[in-house]
Amino acid sequence: MPDVIALYIHIPFCKRKCKYCSFISFDDRVNDIPAYIDALKQEFILRSVSATIETIYFGGGTPSLLSPQQLSDILAVIGRCFEIADDTEISIEANPGTVDLKYLADIKEAGINRLSLGIQSFNDAELSMLGRIHSSKEAGAAVRDARQAGFDNLNIDLIYGLPGQNIDDWNTSLHQALDFHSEHMSLYALTLEAEEMLAKEIKAGKWPQIDADTVATQYELAEELLGQKGYRHYEVSNWSRPGRECRHNLVYWQEGSYLGVGVAAHSYIEKRRSANTGDLDKYIKALSQNKLPPQEIDEIINPDLEIAESIILGLRLCCGINIDDFEKRFGIDIMKQYGKQIEELLNFGLIEKNQEYIRLTPQGRLLGNEVFWRFLPDKI
Ligand code: SF4
Repeated sequence: MPDVIALYIHIPFCKRKCKYCSFISFDDRVNDIPAYIDALKQEFILRSVSATIETIYFGGGTPSLLSPQQLSDILAVIGRCFEIADDTEISIEANPGTVDLKYLADIKEAGINRLSLGIQSFNDAELSMLGRIHSSKEAGAAVRDARQAGFDNLNIDLIYGLPGQNIDDWNTSLHQALDFHSEHMSLYALTLEAEEMLAKEIKAGKWPQIDADTVATQYELAEELLGQKGYRHYEVSNWSRPGRECRHNLVYWQEGSYLGVGVAAHSYIEKRRSANTGDLDKYIKALSQNKLPPQEIDEIINPDLEIAESIILGLRLCCGINIDDFEKRFGIDIMKQYGKQIEELLNFGLIEKNQEYIRLTPQGRLLGNEVFWRFLPDKI
């Protein structure tokens, strides 16, 4: 067991399903929250190990559907099952439609020290198209309440590349977000699976098709504006003030060890990847019988896949892959092993390299998947 691990807790409940949602979340099971929390507590006990936790992340779903007392109780159990570092980053994802000043002050008091607000847009028509439960006014109020409650480590999530969203619309949302001077910004291009409601509505002609050129220009605009405002672009979709990177997510991208607790939560510890069942009933039932939940994934990562994942995760970070560190770790000269792919990507202008590192170019960040698949083991 590694000395240090990150802890992810999945809270799979939402008030209403957003029209683009691909996460494991249920909008008709909020009555099961108390039983779910009992199951979570039991899973912490069963997975208790002698490792220090340096980051805790409540993700979802909508973790802000849990009361401050429920969050406090969960943190107390975690504290009994693991060693918690003094400066542990404790993040929660919150939906602006579920919080007010008192709630935010109470969860701060409970020990949460980083708040990630799923605002997505400051445009009411876009929020309605996405099926979000909050308005732009509520989004602004949530940020102001968060500051008043004492949160000094705040992330704002926005989505771009929406059907019919032009450059001006995106520019307006971005500027409204920037006016709040959050420490961190996560900007995601909308991705849709065919079965999602918004994809069906686009197919039926209710909304325009998404225009790839507009999406690319929106990304470039964000890059420029956030840079001007002093944010550092540190991962394909993430910007922060210097020193305010999300420590928890860096564990994923830097291939650290993490333990996921809750329905569908993934873990990666000592080259073993596993994932709990995504079936809420099976999850609660197993833990109520004092058993670990069924696993949907349980695999040892083989060396070829480990190298491929290391390259892909390294390229997601704007600092890229350090060539010497890579050779020391894997005993491989990356230029010899992957020379063909690297030459091709250099010619396409999707990556750049010098003596020290290989990293994505701004164009490569836009077309990351075009880069990543070339490093998968069956493509070598
Ligand atoms: S709030 Fe998040 S998890 Fe819940 S339905 Fe919307 S996108 Fe999905």
